[in-house]
Amino acid sequence: MSDTIFHKILHRQIPAEIVYEDEHLFAFRDIAPQAPVHVLFVPKRDYATLNDVPEDDAVVIGRLAIAAARYAKAQGFAEDGYRVVMNCNGHGGQTVFQVHLHLLAGAPLGRFGTP
Ligand code: AMP
Repeated sequence: MSDTIFHKILHRQIPAEIVYEDEHLFAFRDIAPQAPVHVLFVPKRDYATLNDVPEDDAVVIGRLAIAAARYAKAQGFAEDGYRVVMNCNGHGGQTVFQVHLHLLAGAPLGRFGTP
């Protein structure tokens, strides 16, 4: 992550609306929201893509999902529902090469995944 835009957000070198941070991860509002609520959850440990996360560090991904669910509950939209997405490499549409999880919510979401 050390040369990504997310690293600069973590170190407050560029502005972002950070909504959550702990010793393992941080979360901030996406600059180009694809839903009324669009928050990115990013681990502090450096992995470029989901492909790079080793099995013995699976907790990194679990923490992202649990943090997103907790945020949804705290913000009051967990029962209405939400979507979590991780894009990987070119066909997945990944543009920032630090692994991250998108949380999308706030309205019924369309179907997804068609080319
Ligand atoms: P992905 O395409 O899955 O790699 O997601 C990267 C996300 O980062 C996109 O949804 C972008 O809109 C978002 N993004 C890029 N730059 C910023 C920024 N400076 N602040 C907040 N979100 C950003």
